[in-house]
Amino acid sequence: GTRGRGGAGTRAVHAGERAGRPVVADSLTTPLVQTATYHFRDTAEVIAYQEGRHPSFEYGRYGNPTTKVAEQKIAALEGAEDCLVSASGMCSATTMLLALVPQGGHVITTTDCYRRTRQFIQTVMPKMGVTATVIDPGDLGALEAALQEHQTALFFSESPTNPYLRCVDVPEVARLCHAHGAVVCIDSTFSTPVNQQALALGADLVLHSGTKFLAGHNDVICGALAAGGERGLAALAEVRKLHWVLGGVIDPHAAYLLLRGLKTLELRVQRHNESALRIARRLEAHPKVACVHYPGLESHPDHAIARAQMSGFGGVVSFEVVGDLWAGSRVVDGVEIPYIAPSLGGPESLIEQPTVVSYWDQTPEARAAVGIKDNLVRFSVGLENYDDIEADLLQALDKV
Ligand code: PLP
Repeated sequence: GTRGRGGAGTRAVHAGERAGRPVVADSLTTPLVQTATYHFRDTAEVIAYQEGRHPSFEYGRYGNPTTKVAEQKIAALEGAEDCLVSASGMCSATTMLLALVPQGGHVITTTDCYRRTRQFIQTVMPKMGVTATVIDPGDLGALEAALQEHQTALFFSESPTNPYLRCVDVPEVARLCHAHGAVVCIDSTFSTPVNQQALALGADLVLHSGTKFLAGHNDVICGALAAGGERGLAALAEVRKLHWVLGGVIDPHAAYLLLRGLKTLELRVQRHNESALRIARRLEAHPKVACVHYPGLESHPDHAIARAQMSGFGGVVSFEVVGDLWAGSRVVDGVEIPYIAPSLGGPESLIEQPTVVSYWDQTPEARAAVGIKDNLVRFSVGLENYDDIEADLLQALDKV
Protein backbone atom coordinates (compact mmCIF):
# COMPACT_ATOMS: atom_id res chain seq x y z
CA GLY A 1 0.00 0.00 0.00
CA THR A 2 0.90 3.62 -0.15
CA ARG A 3 0.18 4.32 3.51
CA GLY A 4 3.11 6.08 5.10
CA ARG A 5 5.34 5.90 2.03
CA GLY A 6 7.32 8.95 0.97
CA GLY A 7 7.24 12.50 2.26
CA ALA A 8 4.15 14.36 3.41
CA GLY A 9 3.65 15.76 -0.06
CA THR A 10 3.78 12.35 -1.71
CA ARG A 11 1.48 10.92 0.96
CA ALA A 12 -0.98 13.82 0.62
CA VAL A 13 -1.22 13.08 -3.07
CA HIS A 14 -1.25 9.28 -3.15
CA ALA A 15 -2.12 7.77 0.24
CA GLY A 16 -5.31 5.72 0.17
CA GLU A 17 -6.00 6.46 -3.47
CA ARG A 18 -4.20 3.97 -5.65
CA ALA A 19 -4.85 0.76 -3.75
CA GLY A 20 -7.45 1.86 -1.23
CA ARG A 21 -9.91 3.46 -3.62
CA PRO A 22 -13.50 2.62 -2.57
CA VAL A 23 -15.30 0.18 -4.81
CA VAL A 24 -18.50 1.93 -5.86
CA ALA A 25 -19.83 -0.46 -8.48
CA ASP A 26 -22.64 -1.64 -6.18
CA SER A 27 -23.73 1.87 -5.23
CA LEU A 28 -27.46 2.17 -5.86
CA THR A 29 -27.13 5.70 -7.19
CA THR A 30 -24.81 6.62 -10.04
CA PRO A 31 -21.65 7.85 -8.35
CA LEU A 32 -20.58 11.45 -8.80
CA VAL A 33 -17.27 11.02 -10.56
CA GLN A 34 -15.69 14.35 -9.72
CA THR A 35 -12.58 14.09 -11.83
CA ALA A 36 -10.93 16.27 -14.44
CA THR A 37 -8.92 13.50 -16.08
CA TYR A 38 -8.52 9.72 -16.37
CA HIS A 39 -5.43 7.57 -16.05
CA PHE A 40 -4.13 4.56 -17.91
CA ARG A 41 -2.23 1.61 -16.51
CA ASP A 42 0.39 1.58 -19.25
CA THR A 43 1.11 2.66 -22.80
CA ALA A 44 -0.62 -0.40 -24.21
CA GLU A 45 -3.83 0.73 -22.50
CA VAL A 46 -3.50 4.26 -23.92
CA ILE A 47 -3.12 2.82 -27.40
CA ALA A 48 -6.05 0.44 -26.82
CA TYR A 49 -8.10 3.49 -25.83
CA GLN A 50 -7.04 5.40 -28.93
CA GLU A 51 -8.09 2.45 -31.07
CA GLY A 52 -11.46 2.05 -29.36
CA ARG A 53 -10.59 -1.23 -27.63
CA HIS A 54 -10.43 0.18 -24.09
CA PRO A 55 -13.49 2.20 -23.08
CA SER A 56 -12.55 5.22 -20.99
CA PHE A 57 -12.84 8.98 -21.12
CA GLU A 58 -9.24 10.32 -21.48
CA TYR A 59 -10.01 13.83 -20.21
CA GLY A 60 -12.93 15.61 -18.54
CA ARG A 61 -13.71 17.87 -21.47
CA TYR A 62 -14.35 14.80 -23.62
CA GLY A 63 -16.64 13.02 -21.22
CA ASN A 64 -17.45 11.88 -17.70
CA PRO A 65 -19.20 8.72 -16.42
CA THR A 66 -21.80 10.66 -14.39
CA THR A 67 -22.51 13.00 -17.29
CA LYS A 68 -22.77 10.04 -19.66
CA VAL A 69 -25.51 8.47 -17.54
CA ALA A 70 -27.44 11.77 -17.59
CA GLU A 71 -27.02 11.89 -21.38
CA GLN A 72 -28.28 8.34 -21.75
CA LYS A 73 -31.29 9.10 -19.57
CA ILE A 74 -32.22 12.22 -21.58
CA ALA A 75 -31.73 10.29 -24.83
CA ALA A 76 -34.07 7.57 -23.56
CA LEU A 77 -36.66 10.15 -22.52
CA GLU A 78 -36.51 11.90 -25.92
CA GLY A 79 -36.53 8.66 -27.91
CA ALA A 80 -33.10 9.80 -29.13
CA GLU A 81 -30.11 7.76 -30.15
CA ASP A 82 -27.52 10.20 -28.83
CA CYS A 83 -27.33 13.16 -26.44
CA LEU A 84 -24.73 15.76 -25.49
CA VAL A 85 -25.07 17.58 -22.19
CA SER A 86 -23.29 20.91 -21.68
CA ALA A 87 -22.73 23.67 -19.15
CA SER A 88 -25.91 25.62 -20.03
CA GLY A 89 -28.79 25.79 -22.46
CA MET A 90 -27.05 28.72 -24.15
CA CYS A 91 -23.85 26.68 -24.42
CA SER A 92 -25.79 23.89 -26.16
CA ALA A 93 -27.50 26.40 -28.47
CA THR A 94 -24.41 28.40 -29.41
CA THR A 95 -22.23 25.34 -29.95
CA MET A 96 -24.98 23.77 -32.08
CA LEU A 97 -25.39 26.93 -34.19
CA LEU A 98 -21.65 27.37 -34.71
CA ALA A 99 -21.19 23.73 -35.62
CA LEU A 100 -24.09 23.40 -38.05
CA VAL A 101 -24.23 26.69 -39.92
CA PRO A 102 -21.26 27.17 -42.27
CA GLN A 103 -19.54 30.46 -42.97
CA GLY A 104 -21.89 32.58 -45.08
CA GLY A 105 -24.70 30.11 -44.40
CA HIS A 106 -28.34 30.75 -43.60
CA VAL A 107 -30.49 29.98 -40.57
CA ILE A 108 -34.25 30.27 -40.18
CA THR A 109 -35.66 31.04 -36.76
CA THR A 110 -38.89 32.33 -35.22
CA THR A 111 -39.94 35.73 -33.87
CA ASP A 112 -40.74 34.79 -30.29
CA CYS A 113 -37.73 33.28 -28.54
CA TYR A 114 -35.34 33.48 -25.62
CA ARG A 115 -33.56 36.81 -25.92
CA ARG A 116 -29.99 35.50 -25.77
CA THR A 117 -30.57 32.98 -28.56
CA ARG A 118 -31.84 35.77 -30.79
CA GLN A 119 -28.92 37.96 -29.72
CA PHE A 120 -26.43 35.26 -30.74
CA ILE A 121 -28.05 34.70 -34.13
CA GLN A 122 -28.36 38.40 -34.90
CA THR A 123 -25.10 39.79 -33.50
CA VAL A 124 -22.50 37.00 -33.39
CA MET A 125 -23.37 34.76 -36.33
CA PRO A 126 -23.18 37.70 -38.80
CA LYS A 127 -19.46 37.91 -37.97
CA MET A 128 -19.19 34.66 -39.88
CA GLY A 129 -21.30 36.01 -42.70
CA VAL A 130 -24.31 34.03 -41.51
CA THR A 131 -27.71 35.51 -42.40
CA ALA A 132 -31.03 34.74 -40.77
CA THR A 133 -34.69 34.78 -41.70
CA VAL A 134 -37.02 35.30 -38.75
CA ILE A 135 -40.55 34.03 -39.34
CA ASP A 136 -43.75 34.03 -37.33
CA PRO A 137 -43.98 30.55 -35.70
CA GLY A 138 -47.20 29.85 -37.60
CA ASP A 139 -46.17 31.20 -41.01
CA LEU A 140 -45.31 28.13 -43.09
CA GLY A 141 -45.57 30.19 -46.27
CA ALA A 142 -42.74 32.41 -45.05
CA LEU A 143 -40.77 29.29 -44.15
CA GLU A 144 -41.18 27.86 -47.62
CA ALA A 145 -40.24 31.18 -49.26
CA ALA A 146 -37.09 31.44 -47.13
CA LEU A 147 -36.12 27.86 -47.91
CA GLN A 148 -36.52 28.58 -51.61
CA GLU A 149 -34.57 31.83 -51.45
CA HIS A 150 -31.66 30.67 -49.28
CA GLN A 151 -29.53 27.56 -49.08
CA THR A 152 -30.56 26.95 -45.45
CA ALA A 153 -28.40 24.92 -43.10
CA LEU A 154 -30.65 25.00 -40.07
CA PHE A 155 -34.15 25.72 -38.80
CA PHE A 156 -34.13 26.49 -35.09
CA SER A 157 -37.17 27.36 -32.99
CA GLU A 158 -38.52 26.90 -29.54
CA SER A 159 -41.86 25.13 -29.27
CA PRO A 160 -43.55 26.35 -27.18
CA THR A 161 -41.74 29.67 -27.34
CA ASN A 162 -40.63 31.99 -24.57
CA PRO A 163 -42.64 33.98 -23.42
CA TYR A 164 -45.76 33.70 -25.63
CA LEU A 165 -45.94 29.89 -25.77
CA ARG A 166 -46.27 29.85 -29.56
CA CYS A 167 -46.00 26.37 -31.10
CA VAL A 168 -44.53 25.41 -34.45
CA ASP A 169 -46.10 22.60 -36.46
CA VAL A 170 -43.07 20.32 -36.13
CA PRO A 171 -44.09 17.60 -38.66
CA GLU A 172 -44.91 20.20 -41.31
CA VAL A 173 -41.78 22.27 -40.60
CA ALA A 174 -39.66 19.12 -40.77
CA ARG A 175 -41.23 18.04 -44.07
CA LEU A 176 -40.52 21.42 -45.70
CA CYS A 177 -37.01 21.77 -44.25
CA HIS A 178 -35.96 18.24 -45.10
CA ALA A 179 -37.09 18.71 -48.70
CA HIS A 180 -34.48 21.51 -48.83
CA GLY A 181 -31.80 19.66 -46.88
CA ALA A 182 -32.05 21.81 -43.75
CA VAL A 183 -31.52 20.37 -40.27
CA VAL A 184 -34.42 20.96 -37.85
CA CYS A 185 -33.66 21.71 -34.21
CA ILE A 186 -36.49 22.27 -31.73
CA ASP A 187 -35.86 23.88 -28.34
CA SER A 188 -38.20 21.76 -26.23
CA THR A 189 -37.35 23.46 -22.92
CA PHE A 190 -40.96 24.56 -22.31
CA SER A 191 -42.51 21.22 -23.25
CA THR A 192 -40.07 18.63 -21.85
CA PRO A 193 -39.90 15.12 -23.33
CA VAL A 194 -42.87 14.20 -21.14
CA ASN A 195 -45.19 16.53 -23.07
CA GLN A 196 -43.62 16.49 -26.52
CA GLN A 197 -41.48 14.01 -28.45
CA ALA A 198 -39.90 16.42 -30.90
CA LEU A 199 -37.79 13.78 -32.66
CA ALA A 200 -40.75 11.46 -33.25
CA LEU A 201 -42.59 14.49 -34.68
CA GLY A 202 -39.83 14.90 -37.25
CA ALA A 203 -37.11 17.09 -35.71
CA ASP A 204 -33.50 16.01 -36.12
CA LEU A 205 -32.31 17.61 -32.90
CA VAL A 206 -34.01 18.59 -29.67
CA LEU A 207 -32.45 21.17 -27.38
CA HIS A 208 -33.05 21.87 -23.70
CA SER A 209 -32.14 24.39 -21.14
CA GLY A 210 -31.70 21.54 -18.65
CA THR A 211 -31.66 24.29 -16.03
CA LYS A 212 -35.44 24.31 -16.24
CA PHE A 213 -37.74 21.27 -16.00
CA LEU A 214 -35.12 18.56 -16.64
CA ALA A 215 -32.92 19.32 -13.63
CA GLY A 216 -36.07 20.79 -12.16
CA HIS A 217 -34.94 22.24 -8.83
CA ASN A 218 -33.68 25.76 -9.58
CA ASP A 219 -30.24 24.69 -8.37
CA VAL A 220 -28.14 23.96 -11.44
CA ILE A 221 -27.38 25.40 -14.89
CA CYS A 222 -27.06 22.90 -17.73
CA GLY A 223 -28.05 22.22 -21.32
CA ALA A 224 -28.75 19.22 -23.49
CA LEU A 225 -28.91 18.42 -27.19
CA ALA A 226 -30.39 15.07 -28.27
CA ALA A 227 -30.48 13.58 -31.75
CA GLY A 228 -32.33 10.95 -33.70
CA GLY A 229 -32.17 9.70 -37.28
CA GLU A 230 -29.26 9.79 -39.69
CA ARG A 231 -29.34 13.56 -40.24
CA GLY A 232 -29.66 14.26 -36.52
CA LEU A 233 -26.86 11.90 -35.53
CA ALA A 234 -24.50 13.32 -38.14
CA ALA A 235 -25.34 16.83 -36.91
CA LEU A 236 -24.78 15.94 -33.27
CA ALA A 237 -21.41 14.35 -34.12
CA GLU A 238 -20.36 17.72 -35.59
CA VAL A 239 -21.63 19.56 -32.51
CA ARG A 240 -19.76 17.19 -30.19
CA LYS A 241 -16.47 17.77 -32.05
CA LEU A 242 -16.85 21.54 -31.65
CA HIS A 243 -17.96 21.15 -28.02
CA TRP A 244 -14.64 19.43 -27.31
CA VAL A 245 -12.90 22.51 -28.74
CA LEU A 246 -15.09 25.27 -27.30
CA GLY A 247 -15.12 23.50 -23.96
CA GLY A 248 -18.48 24.35 -22.42
CA VAL A 249 -18.39 21.20 -20.38
CA ILE A 250 -20.83 20.54 -17.56
CA ASP A 251 -19.28 20.09 -14.13
CA PRO A 252 -19.72 16.49 -12.89
CA HIS A 253 -21.54 17.73 -9.80
CA ALA A 254 -24.02 19.63 -11.98
CA ALA A 255 -24.46 16.45 -14.04
CA TYR A 256 -25.19 14.56 -10.83
CA LEU A 257 -27.85 17.11 -9.88
CA LEU A 258 -29.33 16.91 -13.37
CA LEU A 259 -29.47 13.11 -13.10
CA ARG A 260 -31.12 13.29 -9.68
CA GLY A 261 -33.67 15.83 -10.88
CA LEU A 262 -34.54 13.76 -13.94
CA LYS A 263 -35.75 10.89 -11.77
CA THR A 264 -38.91 12.80 -10.83
CA LEU A 265 -39.42 14.49 -14.21
CA GLU A 266 -42.67 12.79 -15.17
CA LEU A 267 -44.25 13.28 -11.76
CA ARG A 268 -43.26 16.93 -11.63
CA VAL A 269 -44.35 17.71 -15.18
CA GLN A 270 -47.77 16.14 -14.57
CA ARG A 271 -48.25 18.46 -11.60
CA HIS A 272 -46.95 21.49 -13.56
CA ASN A 273 -49.32 20.65 -16.43
CA GLU A 274 -52.37 20.28 -14.20
CA SER A 275 -51.81 23.41 -12.15
CA ALA A 276 -50.84 25.55 -15.15
CA LEU A 277 -53.91 24.60 -17.17
CA ARG A 278 -56.20 25.27 -14.20
CA ILE A 279 -54.63 28.64 -13.42
CA ALA A 280 -54.66 29.60 -17.13
CA ARG A 281 -58.42 28.93 -17.27
CA ARG A 282 -58.98 30.82 -14.02
CA LEU A 283 -56.97 33.81 -15.24
CA GLU A 284 -58.76 33.85 -18.58
CA ALA A 285 -62.07 34.34 -16.73
CA HIS A 286 -60.69 37.17 -14.58
CA PRO A 287 -61.77 40.76 -15.34
CA LYS A 288 -58.31 42.18 -14.51
CA VAL A 289 -56.64 39.91 -17.08
CA ALA A 290 -56.66 41.09 -20.68
CA CYS A 291 -55.18 37.99 -22.30
CA VAL A 292 -53.72 34.62 -21.30
CA HIS A 293 -51.03 32.91 -23.37
CA TYR A 294 -51.15 29.15 -22.77
CA PRO A 295 -51.27 26.52 -25.53
CA GLY A 296 -53.78 24.45 -23.57
CA LEU A 297 -56.41 27.18 -23.94
CA GLU A 298 -58.78 27.09 -26.90
CA SER A 299 -58.12 30.83 -27.34
CA HIS A 300 -54.40 30.30 -28.01
CA PRO A 301 -53.49 30.82 -31.69
CA ASP A 302 -51.62 27.50 -31.81
CA HIS A 303 -54.02 25.43 -29.72
CA ALA A 304 -54.78 22.98 -32.54
CA ILE A 305 -51.06 22.39 -33.20
CA ALA A 306 -50.38 22.02 -29.49
CA ARG A 307 -53.17 19.46 -29.13
CA ALA A 308 -51.86 17.47 -32.06
CA GLN A 309 -48.27 17.28 -30.87
CA MET A 310 -48.29 17.68 -27.09
CA SER A 311 -49.75 15.44 -24.41
CA GLY A 312 -49.62 18.24 -21.82
CA PHE A 313 -49.04 21.96 -22.16
CA GLY A 314 -46.31 22.66 -19.61
CA GLY A 315 -45.86 24.74 -16.51
CA VAL A 316 -45.48 28.26 -17.89
CA VAL A 317 -48.43 30.63 -18.25
CA SER A 318 -47.99 34.18 -19.58
CA PHE A 319 -50.74 36.75 -19.14
CA GLU A 320 -51.40 40.41 -19.75
CA VAL A 321 -52.82 42.40 -16.89
CA VAL A 322 -55.43 45.05 -17.81
CA GLY A 323 -53.48 48.31 -17.76
CA ASP A 324 -49.82 49.28 -18.10
CA LEU A 325 -46.43 48.12 -16.81
CA TRP A 326 -47.38 49.13 -13.27
CA ALA A 327 -50.64 47.20 -13.32
CA GLY A 328 -48.55 44.13 -14.12
CA SER A 329 -46.03 44.91 -11.41
CA ARG A 330 -48.83 45.21 -8.87
CA VAL A 331 -49.58 41.53 -9.47
CA VAL A 332 -45.88 40.60 -9.38
CA ASP A 333 -45.40 42.54 -6.13
CA GLY A 334 -48.71 41.38 -4.67
CA VAL A 335 -48.18 37.60 -4.75
CA GLU A 336 -46.72 35.93 -1.68
CA ILE A 337 -45.91 32.42 -2.88
CA PRO A 338 -43.91 32.95 -6.11
CA TYR A 339 -40.46 34.46 -6.02
CA ILE A 340 -39.77 37.36 -8.35
CA ALA A 341 -37.10 35.71 -10.48
CA PRO A 342 -36.16 34.72 -14.00
CA SER A 343 -36.11 31.04 -14.98
CA LEU A 344 -38.86 28.44 -14.81
CA GLY A 345 -39.48 24.75 -14.36
CA GLY A 346 -38.55 24.35 -10.69
CA PRO A 347 -40.55 23.48 -7.56
CA GLU A 348 -40.88 27.13 -6.54
CA SER A 349 -43.39 29.22 -8.49
CA LEU A 350 -41.55 32.12 -10.14
CA ILE A 351 -43.10 35.28 -11.49
CA GLU A 352 -41.63 38.09 -13.58
CA GLN A 353 -42.40 40.77 -16.11
CA PRO A 354 -40.22 40.16 -19.19
CA THR A 355 -40.01 43.94 -19.71
CA VAL A 356 -38.48 44.46 -16.27
CA VAL A 357 -36.32 41.35 -15.89
CA SER A 358 -35.13 40.59 -19.44
CA TYR A 359 -35.63 43.75 -21.51
CA TRP A 360 -35.25 46.71 -19.11
CA ASP A 361 -32.11 47.92 -20.93
CA GLN A 362 -34.05 48.25 -24.19
CA THR A 363 -36.14 51.12 -25.50
CA PRO A 364 -39.94 50.70 -25.69
CA GLU A 365 -39.51 50.65 -29.51
CA ALA A 366 -37.00 47.78 -29.34
CA ARG A 367 -39.30 45.85 -27.01
CA ALA A 368 -42.24 46.44 -29.31
CA ALA A 369 -40.18 45.19 -32.26
CA VAL A 370 -39.83 41.80 -30.58
CA GLY A 371 -43.40 41.85 -29.26
CA ILE A 372 -42.67 42.20 -25.55
CA LYS A 373 -45.61 44.00 -23.94
CA ASP A 374 -45.16 46.02 -20.76
CA ASN A 375 -48.18 44.50 -19.02
CA LEU A 376 -47.03 40.94 -19.74
CA VAL A 377 -46.40 38.69 -16.74
CA ARG A 378 -44.68 35.32 -17.07
CA PHE A 379 -45.65 32.84 -14.40
CA SER A 380 -43.76 29.57 -13.91
CA VAL A 381 -46.30 27.50 -12.01
CA GLY A 382 -44.48 25.56 -9.29
CA LEU A 383 -45.22 22.40 -7.38
CA GLU A 384 -47.08 24.06 -4.51
CA ASN A 385 -50.69 22.97 -3.94
CA TYR A 386 -52.96 24.37 -6.60
CA ASP A 387 -55.46 25.96 -4.23
CA ASP A 388 -52.69 27.98 -2.58
CA ILE A 389 -51.35 29.17 -5.93
CA GLU A 390 -54.80 30.23 -7.11
CA ALA A 391 -55.80 32.00 -3.91
CA ASP A 392 -52.50 33.88 -3.91
CA LEU A 393 -52.78 35.02 -7.51
CA LEU A 394 -56.40 36.12 -7.04
CA GLN A 395 -55.60 38.23 -3.99
CA ALA A 396 -52.75 39.85 -5.97
CA LEU A 397 -55.08 40.62 -8.90
CA ASP A 398 -57.46 42.28 -6.43
CA LYS A 399 -54.69 44.85 -5.84
CA VAL A 400 -54.73 46.01 -9.47
N1 PLP B 1 -33.98 28.10 -24.27
C1 PLP B 1 -35.05 28.57 -23.61
C2 PLP B 1 -36.42 28.37 -24.16
C3 PLP B 1 -34.86 29.28 -22.41
O1 PLP B 1 -35.92 29.77 -21.75
C4 PLP B 1 -33.54 29.47 -21.92
C5 PLP B 1 -33.24 30.18 -20.67
O2 PLP B 1 -33.83 30.88 -20.05
C6 PLP B 1 -32.47 28.98 -22.65
C7 PLP B 1 -32.73 28.27 -23.81
C8 PLP B 1 -31.07 29.16 -22.17
O3 PLP B 1 -30.77 28.19 -21.19
P1 PLP B 1 -29.72 28.42 -20.01
O4 PLP B 1 -30.24 29.52 -19.15
O5 PLP B 1 -29.68 27.08 -19.33
O6 PLP B 1 -28.42 28.79 -20.64
